[in-house]
Amino acid sequence: MHYALLHPVSSARLRFRFHRDSSFCSRSKLTTVYPVGTSHDFRKRILCSNTGIPMRAAIFTSTAMDLGGIALVLAGGFVVLAAFAAGISLAFQPTWVVRWVQKAQPDVFFLKPTEDKVISLTVDDAPHPDITPQILDVLRENDCKATFFVIGENVDQWPGLVERIHTEGHEVGNHTMQDAASWRLSPNEFLSQLIVTEERITKYFTVDVSGRQIKWFRPGHGFYTRWMLEISKAQGYKVALGSLFPLDTLFTAQAWLISKYLLWRMHRGAIIILHDRQPQKHQTIEVLKMILPVLKRKGYDVMIFHMKCALRKHPEQTKVLSGLNFCTLWEFWVR
Ligand SMILES: [Zn+2]
Repeated sequence: MHYALLHPVSSARLRFRFHRDSSFCSRSKLTTVYPVGTSHDFRKRILCSNTGIPMRAAIFTSTAMDLGGIALVLAGGFVVLAAFAAGISLAFQPTWVVRWVQKAQPDVFFLKPTEDKVISLTVDDAPHPDITPQILDVLRENDCKATFFVIGENVDQWPGLVERIHTEGHEVGNHTMQDAASWRLSPNEFLSQLIVTEERITKYFTVDVSGRQIKWFRPGHGFYTRWMLEISKAQGYKVALGSLFPLDTLFTAQAWLISKYLLWRMHRGAIIILHDRQPQKHQTIEVLKMILPVLKRKGYDVMIFHMKCALRKHPEQTKVLSGLNFCTLWEFWVR
């Protein structure tokens, strides 16, 4: 049996209509295009005579195809491919991509372009009454410093923790009032959250911005907009994201996986993003316990030499900076 396909192909949008008929038989495939309006019977007859298929032996099927539909399918395919590429980028975060992003977006701190073995650790959504003290203990045991991006609502709930973070030589950054997507706020809401969070932080200490520190802001959920950059800059903030995010917000009780990922993807000048809120609390502590000694062994303690550059400018920070293999964003920035 032979098949003959009659396609009415059309796209009103393109003002382009035609019929495309094809026949398939053991010997040949033939495609013929007709102007729109050519009768169905006529096309059948021509198709059969061109291919030698008897009219009675042919099965005619007619399928409608719309170029608009085809374009939609192609666009859909492109979107799926782009989403796949974005997924791969998010999962593996290739350093060259982040370096490129850093060049394209100099207003945001993603990583430190350097050949030296220096890295910076940041912890989001602090403070938490159970986990923050344990994180601080692990950092102290390993002689490391970090930057904690605090949630305004949590600051007053556990005030002693913000004080402890500061007095132990770590940095405190502004992460707005709630752990929510900052880009969903209106510019006015965003500004007021930034200010209120800062007021809560500065109850416990003041960030010295006279050339020795920077006020850091990290947008909730990690996405930022142009107006967000402008508002935070006007408030004296520098926006910091990072270059190594192990997707720890998606995993729970997967410390070994996160640690393996971090050690695998570690690069010079990396800014690591971890979280200290529920339900990741124990996981982050375990991750730090696993990766800090390994990184030290791998030579990520050459910081002292590089810190000397910063120390020349700010000798009073000698105590804070000596012996670090993880540093705060500020220390990272000045070196
Ligand atoms: Zn957050």
